[in-house]
Amino acid sequence: MADMTTYSFKSSQVSHYMALPQDGKVQVMYVWIDGSGETMRAKTKTMDFVPKSFEDCPEWTYDGSSTDQAEGSNSDLYLQPKAMFKDPFRLGDNKIVLCDIYKYNRKPEDKNFRYYCNQVMSKPEVASTHPWFGIEQEYTFLSPDGHPFGWPKLGYPGPQGPYYCGVGADKVHGRAIVEAHYRACLYAGVKIAGTNAEVMPAQWEFQVGPCEGIEMGDHLWMARFLLHRVAEDFGVVVSLDPKPMAGDWNGAGAHCNFSTQAMRDENGIVDIKEAVKKFAKRHDKHIFAYDPNQGKDNARRLTGLHETSSLGDFSSGVANRGASIRIPRHCGEDRKGYMEDRRPASNCDPYRVTEAIVRSVILDDWSDFFVHADAIGPLPEDNE
Ligand code: ADP
Ligand code: MN
Ligand code: MN
Ligand code: MN
Repeated sequence: MADMTTYSFKSSQVSHYMALPQDGKVQVMYVWIDGSGETMRAKTKTMDFVPKSFEDCPEWTYDGSSTDQAEGSNSDLYLQPKAMFKDPFRLGDNKIVLCDIYKYNRKPEDKNFRYYCNQVMSKPEVASTHPWFGIEQEYTFLSPDGHPFGWPKLGYPGPQGPYYCGVGADKVHGRAIVEAHYRACLYAGVKIAGTNAEVMPAQWEFQVGPCEGIEMGDHLWMARFLLHRVAEDFGVVVSLDPKPMAGDWNGAGAHCNFSTQAMRDENGIVDIKEAVKKFAKRHDKHIFAYDPNQGKDNARRLTGLHETSSLGDFSSGVANRGASIRIPRHCGEDRKGYMEDRRPASNCDPYRVTEAIVRSVILDDWSDFFVHADAIGPLPEDNE
C-alpha cells in the first residue's frame, strides 16, 4: 500500500479550482468493473454539451491489458455507457456514467455479467412480474496499512455486542465517511435506502433499493464506486472482503431482498413459500453465483455462526437470521411482502445475484447461465 503521508492537501485548496467556470464544457467520468470482478476503474472525458441520458454519451475505449481484461497485443476494450448519475464531486452539469465492456469483436467481455443479467431481466415473462430487489451492502473500513480503521494498533477491540447501530467514539469508526457517502448517493440519484453501523467495529452497511430489474446492479455498483471515492478523500480504504477478520468477528454480506408483484399483493405469502421451495432445489447453483470465486470467498463467512447459515445447507424461516432465506417478521404477519436471501457475499456481483434469483424463481431455467472461462469447475447440479 502506498505511503499516504507523501501526498496531502487541504480541501479548501481544491475548492478554489473546483469553483472555476467550465465555459460550457462538461466532465463525464466513465466507470467500469475491472478484471477482478470486484474493484472498479474510472477515467474522464470532456464533452461540449450536457448529456441528458447515458445514451448521449459516446462509446469509449480503454487499455484492457492494464486491468487484467485483455492481452497487450490486442488490448483495446469498448466502454458502453449504461446508466448516468449526477457527479457529487465535480457538481454542476458534470456526470458519472456506469459502463459495461465489450471485446474487439463486440462480444461481451468475459465478466460482463450485466450483459447476461439484462438479457434475463428484459424477457417479457420476467419484466411483467416487476421483480424488485433491495441489497444490504456490508463493508469494512481499513487504514491504508490494511488494519481495520480505528482498531488498536496492537491487540483487539473488546468483543462484539456494543457496536451494531452504535454511537460514540468507542463504538463506531468512520461515521463522517458514512454520512458523506449517504449524501453523495442522494445527490447522484442512487436509490440508497439507509445506513447502519454493523456488528464488528469499523464495519458498516448501506442499503440500496427497492430497484426493479437491471437497476439493482447499476445502482449498487454506483453506490460502491461512490463509497470508494469518498473514502479516498478521507485516506481510508473500503474492503468488501466477506470475512476481513478471522475468528469471533462478523463477516460481511450483501443480503438480497426480493419480491414480485404477486408477492407484494394480498396473500403473496403463497408465492413467497413457492419461491422458497425453488430456492432449495438450486442452493449449490446460488452459492456458485454469490461471490466472484464460485463460493470460495463465502466459505470463510457462511459458517453457521455469526448470524449466518452454513455454506452447504439450505434453510429458511420467518425472522430467522441463521437461515439462508429469511421471511421478515412483518411479511409473515401481513402474509405478503418480500423475502431476504442472506447468502450473497459482500463482494458479490449484484448482476449475478439478481439473475440467479430470477432464473430460479421466475424462469425456473438455468440452462443458459453463463459460466466464464476461468471459473473453477462447471455450474453445480440441482439439489435434491
Ligand atoms: P434487515 O432487517 O435485514 O437489516 P434492511 O432494512 O437493512 O433489512 O434492508 C431491507 C432492504 O429490503 C432494503 O434495501 C429495502 O429497499 C428492501 N426492500 C423493502 N421492501 C422490498 C420489497 N418489497 N422487495 C424487495 N426489496 C425490498
Ligand atoms: Mn440490514
Ligand atoms: Mn447487516
Ligand atoms: Mn438483512
